Amino acid sequence: MSRRDGTARSPHVVIIGAGFGGLTAAKALAKSGFAVTLIDRHNYHLFQPLLYQVATAALSPADIASPIRGIVRRDRNVNVILANVSGVDLDRREVIAEDHRIAYDTLIVATGAQHAYFGHDDWAKYAPGLKTIDDATYLRRRVLLAFEKAETEADPDERRRLLNFVIVGGGPTGVELAGAVAELGKRALASDFRAIDPRQARVILVEAAARLLTPFDPSISEAAKRALEQLGVEVRLGAGVAAADCSGVSLGNDRIETRTIVWAAGVVASPAGRWLGAETDRSGRVVVGPDLLVPGRPDIFVIGDTAHALGTDGKPLPGVAPVAKQQGGYVAALIKARTAGRTLPPFRYRDFGSLATIGRKRAVAQMGALKLEGFLAWLLWSVAHIYFLIGFRNRIVVAMNWAWNYITFQRWTRLITGMSGARMDAMPTPRAADGQRAPGLRDAA
Ligand SMILES: Cc1cc2nc3c(=O)[nH]c(=O)nc-3n(C[C@H](O)[C@H](O)[C@H](O)COP(=O)(O)OP(=O)(O)OC[C@H]3O[C@@H](n4cnc5c(N)ncnc54)[C@H](O)[C@@H]3O)c2cc1C
Repeated sequence: MSRRDGTARSPHVVIIGAGFGGLTAAKALAKSGFAVTLIDRHNYHLFQPLLYQVATAALSPADIASPIRGIVRRDRNVNVILANVSGVDLDRREVIAEDHRIAYDTLIVATGAQHAYFGHDDWAKYAPGLKTIDDATYLRRRVLLAFEKAETEADPDERRRLLNFVIVGGGPTGVELAGAVAELGKRALASDFRAIDPRQARVILVEAAARLLTPFDPSISEAAKRALEQLGVEVRLGAGVAAADCSGVSLGNDRIETRTIVWAAGVVASPAGRWLGAETDRSGRVVVGPDLLVPGRPDIFVIGDTAHALGTDGKPLPGVAPVAKQQGGYVAALIKARTAGRTLPPFRYRDFGSLATIGRKRAVAQMGALKLEGFLAWLLWSVAHIYFLIGFRNRIVVAMNWAWNYITFQRWTRLITGMSGARMDAMPTPRAADGQRAPGLRDAA
């Protein structure tokens, strides 16, 4: 690569997305001979697996997010751009990010996924999902406001509606949310109100499949269901949502009246497939080759939740953080190897197991043939999550918060924020139903 003045320039690797995949790639290319540009629409890297704890007032946003510039501050060859990418000019090899056009030699697309409503995008305003910090603080506001509104509500039907919480989707996020909301009512808020008894709040977890946590072994699914039921969660299996509106959900002929529905049922990949004119699967993920390159595009890698890559068993790899991180590390190594005139064997995912937590001291874990449930699994879950959090401060703060919650059952971040100028009766659901953008609700695009 040479500049106009004849001097050599470093090959330019542009990475879109500073999530698990993009950030791992950037860190692996740090202090190398490459010029790296990392673009993200947020100025922070987010540890999504703990978002549900922000939504249920156990942690603060800053505990699970770190500024991207801070993470790469010592990596002088990594440049960070805060911008929303809207396309890629394949002919000119440029990324289009708001007013910028950023030329690349090699492009890594790691833009993740977003909620999917299976063709019912109109449900988004009644049943927000959990993907960003804004989503989490918005959900926290809705959950806490529901209790506040119920405290002053004279109509018993409306009070019941306010104290019903429906979580749609029995994957790890739905299971974790359901356990945390149940504990919020049963423990943390139990003595805070005078007119209502928060312990009477109903938490209903709705799953269309015949069991929870379908990627896990059936015995683990059963253990998770039992643990949730012990926390008072009602688990409805084989129940697909037929309709959602501002006062409830319909499950076939059954109707649950509620003011709070949380969507944890499905994801669709970012629109990167459109930017690249590439083949995508049903979830919009870009079909990549064994080296994570877009077929016919030797300069464009797609990784993480945006990629449809096959495992050694021929099945698509799951949308989980370890896949994204391992893929980020792999493409960085492959880019370096190619520059040195070498190649690497195809990407191979090493699965170290899956974990999901239920309430403040139970979890389920599956690592190959080893299956764990209960407190030991929770300890493993806690250690793994603290280890993978980015930043020493975050690790210390989260560990202390968990210890405090464990001992006292309290959740000190139960702050209702984002209400400046809004009246107490401005429950987000009806407001969103009026056609306004609910505060903090993620853009659908
Ligand atoms: C609530 C929740 C809980 C989860 N729990 C677990 C768990 O317990 N264990 C587990 O392994 N996985 C879990 N996951 C899944 C895991 O978080 C994802 O698989 C992982 O984040 C994928 O990494 P990624 O790099 O592909 O995308 P992400 O980490 O989502 O990063 C994508 C990045 O791209 C940026 N971006 C997107 N579009 C644009 C654009 N147009 N312009 C600029 N920037 C853009 C985003 O801001 C983001 O920073 C969870 C996910 C969620 C939502």
